Amino acid sequence: MAAVFLVTLYEYSPLFYIAVVFVCFLVTSGLVLGWFGWDVPVILRNSEETESSAGVSKKQMRQVKNPFGLEILHLTAASVTKGITLKPDCLEDCFLTCYWGCSVQKLYEALQKHIYCFRIKTPQALEDALYNEYLYRQQYFIKKTDKEEKYCQLSEDAQITDFGPVPRSCYPLVALLTLAEEEDREIYDIISMVSIIHVPDESYRLSCRILYQYLLLAQGQFHDLKQLFMSANSSPPTSDPPPGERDADRTLLEKVGLAEDEPEWHEETSKDCVVCQNATVNWVLLPCRHACLCDGCMKYFQQCPMCRQFVQESFPLCSRKEQDEAEPKPVL
Ligand SMILES: [Zn+2]
Ligand SMILES: [Zn+2]
Repeated sequence: MAAVFLVTLYEYSPLFYIAVVFVCFLVTSGLVLGWFGWDVPVILRNSEETESSAGVSKKQMRQVKNPFGLEILHLTAASVTKGITLKPDCLEDCFLTCYWGCSVQKLYEALQKHIYCFRIKTPQALEDALYNEYLYRQQYFIKKTDKEEKYCQLSEDAQITDFGPVPRSCYPLVALLTLAEEEDREIYDIISMVSIIHVPDESYRLSCRILYQYLLLAQGQFHDLKQLFMSANSSPPTSDPPPGERDADRTLLEKVGLAEDEPEWHEETSKDCVVCQNATVNWVLLPCRHACLCDGCMKYFQQCPMCRQFVQESFPLCSRKEQDEAEPKPVL
């Protein structure tokens, strides 16, 4: 019986093969479209699919106001022997305390102490936590209206012209900004800012720069401030921004929970999207920290258009609500 069946099939062989191919096609389509309920991984690539991609997650944000700002002026002129010019820019009356030759280990121990119990909200608190392991200390009172440059120089009595070869056990300069008034410490979440500054000397001529900046919070956390990278094609801001934008500059955007990856929003509020060259940049991509896409273009990219790195997370510089508020009212 079976033999007869096979012979019959053989006689109609073209039909048999067509039938086999058709059955295979049906099974494959079934697998791809999930008719059998099996979870077969299928990569579908078309424009609509990319648009609705859920791959890039949006970071949880919290907005805090940072009362501190610190800038180094005349970078090329700075050195351990010639000193350094600092320009604090604070929202409240502050103390700027500079510690030359501050022990690296003691500084990080001090930051750990801040987390656990010993909040660093005054220069004295930091000095206690450091066990005075620094060479020389200078302090300046900074009025909130005062945008004056402060010139810091290591005392000649210290007889230090050089901090020795790397790796070093001390940082050339640590600048601490703390709020001067007790009541201001109640208003702000951020109670102090620690800036670790490299100052060039004979042994290590790397140009003067801020190596790390930490914002210390009243609740005990500290956050590492990081810069955002903007497109170099965009035109730099021409003059001093108006007061409204200055507040925006100070806006610190941070993710909740983790201390890393908190960029500071600098003055690039009016820059164009690198893709459409039309709308304002509003999205920062992580981990590369390129701020290069507008709201409209953001959904098309799973890789950064500037460095091709896969985007793991992203966050907006300002949410839609704030954008609407910031939108200038038309003048009639
Ligand atoms: Zn765009
Ligand atoms: Zn990038």
